[in-house]
Amino acid sequence: SEAGNILSGTEVANEIRSALKSEVRKLCEELPGFKPGLAIIQVGGREDSNVYIRMKMKAASQIGIEATHIKLPRTITEAELLIKLKNLNGDPSIHGIIVQMPLDTDNPVDSHLITDAVAPEKDVDGLNTINEGRLAVGDLSGFLPCTPNGVFELIKRSGVQISGSQAVVLGRSKIVGTPCSELLKWHHATVTVCHSKTKYLAKETAKADILVVAIGQPEMVKGDWIKAGAVVIDCGINSVPDETKKSGQKLVGDVAFEEAKKVASYITPVPGGVGPMTVAMLMKNTVQSAQRSAARLRSTAWNLR
Ligand code: NAP
Repeated sequence: SEAGNILSGTEVANEIRSALKSEVRKLCEELPGFKPGLAIIQVGGREDSNVYIRMKMKAASQIGIEATHIKLPRTITEAELLIKLKNLNGDPSIHGIIVQMPLDTDNPVDSHLITDAVAPEKDVDGLNTINEGRLAVGDLSGFLPCTPNGVFELIKRSGVQISGSQAVVLGRSKIVGTPCSELLKWHHATVTVCHSKTKYLAKETAKADILVVAIGQPEMVKGDWIKAGAVVIDCGINSVPDETKKSGQKLVGDVAFEEAKKVASYITPVPGGVGPMTVAMLMKNTVQSAQRSAARLRSTAWNLR
């Protein structure tokens, strides 16, 4: 197909959010008194976290999810936080739990221990080791982490055939690169994973029918690194100086967008690409968790009759 088609994450995310809104309405009609519940835990008060949480709260309220922002002081200890999570795990009105990272705390808190303390069936961020392990071995029935799930949805929207394709993922982080590569692998792409020790990056990327970039390096991937007709998904969110802006800065991705779009068949912009999809996928996971819980409630009611 022609070069330069834009994959708008903003548009796709809006579609997903309105579809979720009708699903929630249906769920609440079928089960009066039932409401999907999401708990968002924040430790401390980082400004970037405040912004992300505000976006998540707003999306939830538009869809009909009851989101609770649980703001905990920087003085909280690891043990206290674990108790908090244990209570939420046992609370039947809560279907999804997320802990906003990074933790802004005065005490030593092991963030991995914290994400693993979220019950796998409420782990709508998909960061519990149990859910990560499921994905790693090709069991897609657990919760998928939100950014990779959004990346995958955008790839599907491009219409590219994933099975049998050459996919290249730049980055191997726990939250983006690694799960993206696993999702592509289990949808039968042949996947190359690149990282900071990869030699000749441009040679690797040139093979890609599907190129996912998640390295946090502003506009590092150039137009001539990309195969003609490739689908390019740019996860990067980098703030760089821009004198023409009132704030003095602007957001760019990890891909040099203007030159890349002349070569790629489909490409995601920054902002308005992967970013909005992440929030939409968090909502999707939360609704899915609520639906599973509602189904269990219904089957219990049936058994009691
Ligand atoms: P990260 O944890 O810093 O991981 C970066 C990965 O890229 C690492 O695997 C690193 O390799 C690799 N890398 C770094 N510099 C490289 C280079 N010069 N060449 C090749 N590989 C390189 O970052 P992340 O959390 O995955 O995030 C990646 C980007 O996505 C960031 O811009 C972040 O802001 C953005 N992001 C967006 C969303 C969203 O909602 N849209 C969500 C999360 C992240 P090593 O493993 O060897 O260190």
